[in-house]
Amino acid sequence: MNVADCEDIAARLAAHGGREVDDPCQADLVLVNTCTVRKKAEDKAFSYLGVLKALKRDGPAHAPYIAAMGCVVPGGGVRISQAFPHVDLLIDYSDPDLVLAELSEHFAPLAPWEQGLPGGNSECRQDAGAPRVSGKHTFVTAIRGCDHLCSYCVVPAARGPQRDVPLGEVVAMAQAHERGGEPDIAVLGQNILAYGRSSGPGHPGFIDLMETLLAETSFPWITFLTSLAGDLTDEMCERVIAQPRITPLLHLPLQSGSDRVLADMRRGYTAAHYRRMVAKARACRPDLYLTTDLLTGFPTETEADFRETLAFAAEIGFDDAFMFAYSERPGTHASQAHPDRLSRAEKMARLSELIARQRSISAERHRRFIGAELPVIIEHTALPVGGALAPPGIGGNELPPTGSGVGATEAVARTAFNKIVRLPATIRKPGEYSRVRITAAKVSSFDGEEIG
Ligand code: SF4
Repeated sequence: MNVADCEDIAARLAAHGGREVDDPCQADLVLVNTCTVRKKAEDKAFSYLGVLKALKRDGPAHAPYIAAMGCVVPGGGVRISQAFPHVDLLIDYSDPDLVLAELSEHFAPLAPWEQGLPGGNSECRQDAGAPRVSGKHTFVTAIRGCDHLCSYCVVPAARGPQRDVPLGEVVAMAQAHERGGEPDIAVLGQNILAYGRSSGPGHPGFIDLMETLLAETSFPWITFLTSLAGDLTDEMCERVIAQPRITPLLHLPLQSGSDRVLADMRRGYTAAHYRRMVAKARACRPDLYLTTDLLTGFPTETEADFRETLAFAAEIGFDDAFMFAYSERPGTHASQAHPDRLSRAEKMARLSELIARQRSISAERHRRFIGAELPVIIEHTALPVGGALAPPGIGGNELPPTGSGVGATEAVARTAFNKIVRLPATIRKPGEYSRVRITAAKVSSFDGEEIG
């Protein structure tokens, strides 16, 4: 969601004449989007804000304007002001409309644009979808905030309650991206399956949202993220997941395989429900690529609970997983009701075991793709061989370096289920569809060759 917000803001600034630069020293404006979902992310935000002090070394007249936005600011604003006086502006919001409105009040070069940055203006949103063909996912936000209140999660406090973007605006945004030549879209919400719920009875729901996008756009691939298992229904599987233009990627966070821990986490589903919905989704979509989030070391997680998670993950057979150790987030229900009692060493030991187990499951499951011919979208045409890539946008699949070909380049594509494929070369451009044969399958990426 933060990546989507950054892209949205960058696109709107670009639509008004802004230009991205690689080096903050060359920028007039540095906007830092902070994340507080885990302590590590928050630490990174503080560390980066500290690094930016060097930009003010030669005095404010020659330095960029520095603003911090996002989830850390509401709870950590005082700390930022005290520790980093070189930060010019703190913006309590994550919503791009509100961020830009606030920014335009304080950052003089944006002031003349203020008229063009109103909140929720669909024309502005459409303009923001100007051509930006890159081969990476293009995000369309359908829900902001979350109503679910999982006990460990800071998102509802940081981003506020669920707000549905009106269906017409979502469709207009998607169509603007299509006109701009983007190859596919990913429709976002913290819990996208709850679309419409905050808008009252009669408002289009998730199925209406996806069926309308299928009808009103021609994207060959439409992905939706993220799905809370408790809200997944048979009808959603039959009417959405089964559709061939919906990508086979289902990201369905499990978090724990223990019902007791799931209840303490207030996730709103049981392992049995999760198991049943995965079976249903796989029945509707035999090529389903199932990914999940797993959280170890929740305060009430016993060793036996952890073993249940390991066994359940093996039983389900996730294709890939994003795994984290619990870190207490101030202000959450869990921080008050369940004191963080496990040592960091215990949490990390469980996390390491889980990662090792899941890596071998992923490696095994990925073997089914060797020899398979898959459609892909080209993301890069000439990256240094073995170079690490920025995360492709969903979940942060950091691509591990491979090989050591000094000076050599390779192309990089991604599958419909967001797996990176390294290719010796391609004649196509970023954003174009192609077909590849998979020649090797690793845990985090595939090797392949283009076939036509
Ligand atoms: Fe947080 Fe739960 Fe909402 Fe996800 S569904 S954003 S974990 S409260």
